[in-house]
Amino acid sequence: MRAPPQWPRGASRFAPTPTGRLHLGNARTALLAWLAARATGRRAILRVEDLDPAAVPPGCMDTQLADLAWLGLTWDEGVAEGGPAGPYQQSARGPLYREALDALAALGVLYPCWCSRREVLEAARAPHASDEGPVYAGTCRPAQPITDLDLDALPMRRGRVPALRLDVARALHRLGAHTVDFDDLACGPQQIDLHRQMGDFVVRRRDGLAAYQIACSLDDVFMGCDLVVRGADLLASAARQVLLLRLLELPPPRYAHVGLVVDAQGARLAKRDGAIALASFREAGVPAAEIRRVLAHTCGWATDDLAVMVAAFTLDGLTADTVRLPSLPEVPSEG
Ligand SMILES: [Zn+2]
Repeated sequence: MRAPPQWPRGASRFAPTPTGRLHLGNARTALLAWLAARATGRRAILRVEDLDPAAVPPGCMDTQLADLAWLGLTWDEGVAEGGPAGPYQQSARGPLYREALDALAALGVLYPCWCSRREVLEAARAPHASDEGPVYAGTCRPAQPITDLDLDALPMRRGRVPALRLDVARALHRLGAHTVDFDDLACGPQQIDLHRQMGDFVVRRRDGLAAYQIACSLDDVFMGCDLVVRGADLLASAARQVLLLRLLELPPPRYAHVGLVVDAQGARLAKRDGAIALASFREAGVPAAEIRRVLAHTCGWATDDLAVMVAAFTLDGLTADTVRLPSLPEVPSEG
């Protein structure tokens, strides 16, 4: 596939999926990704991961953008700002993903999978192995590599259009590796047995859309995001993304998977939890400075001033430690 553009400066990005309201955990990740750009001279990019536009509620993206602007986070490039690495919405970047899928297919590491979700679950080796979902049993994996897959004319079976999976063992073999190794700035050195722990994963869905792992990894490289700061729940995704990029002979970014935020009871924050949604605070008239102070507190800083945070930020200070929320400004209950 084509080579990525050369950028004069690297970039750090925040890349929300517009399927719900941003909560304080998302805001902390956004802040850290933004600080990583501002403190290291990188471009700050806001990318919208609306890979599946049908799953995006009307107005959702605008609310997220308004939340970030309210916090004071400004972007050099993004869906509202535009810029040379655009488009900044995944729904408009399909041709790039297709190029990557064609290149992978030519390597003989992809194969069609006709299994339903239920069949995958029933055949899984370890259905409850992780919150990543079941490890695919390899039901449709061919004995010999397929190098002449026509992505526009995949064969139907049982009336079903197939998804495409990556043959992880074959991919690792091609790279002369047994594990996916990378050094995470927050989590330390990683050596992930992707074949055993996660198995062959989907790179193109049955509806023809590129899977998240393809879109995210290609966007990072082609937008020049050489530093990816995001939540620790995506560490397993990083292993898959590193593998895809190495197959395509593209340089993976440096990753920093930072600790997730939990509430006072120790439970992970969820998008459905209206009480900690940024929009709830904003609509209730809570000053953005109060929220910035809460977020700064989770990083060990007593300030609400973004310039002070930029001065205090170091990449070495990024950790995978889980963060407990301090007491929050009161907002009226939504019932
Ligand atoms: Zn299958």
